[in-house]
Amino acid sequence: MIESHVDFTTRMEQRFPGLFGQGQYGGFDIEPGWRTLVQTLCHSIECHTESVTRDHDLALRTHAAKQQGYDAVLALCARGSTQPSQWDRQRADEIWAEPHTDSVPDAMQPVTILQVKEKFGTLRFYYQGGDQFVRGAVWVTEGMSAHVCETCGAPGSRGGTGWIRTLCPTHRAQHDAQRAQS
Ligand SMILES: [Zn+2]
Repeated sequence: MIESHVDFTTRMEQRFPGLFGQGQYGGFDIEPGWRTLVQTLCHSIECHTESVTRDHDLALRTHAAKQQGYDAVLALCARGSTQPSQWDRQRADEIWAEPHTDSVPDAMQPVTILQVKEKFGTLRFYYQGGDQFVRGAVWVTEGMSAHVCETCGAPGSRGGTGWIRTLCPTHRAQHDAQRAQS
């Protein structure tokens, strides 16, 4: 049985609390066929955000340690151990030899999803924040959506008169039959 729209959106909001629920979120307006695409995109953004946050945190701590001096850098590399290993010293030497910078670049702005919808047969993923990686991931997902049936997720193509939709042959036929009736 296909998960209901409400259950899907609730599950997404609970699974990715950082991406949704920031007040400006305008909701989901997609059919079940694109859920996997959106879920995979959200997961990629989440993993990337965790990774850049970790890197940024380390950059800040390294920067602060360099300002304090070599011993602080060594302590950072030894992760609190009073007996730095040879590898720790080597890493500390490398960091110490790198040119000192005045500041650490700002962290990536967290991604906030504004709206997820269909427009002219392709997925539109509106969001704020992020970086080039996020832009690329959204771009690929939106491009992929033009080849995935909105209704069932099977391979599909864009088409139709008036309302352009991306559908598989089965759902295209169903859609055309419904339009002919109305
Ligand atoms: Zn289909």
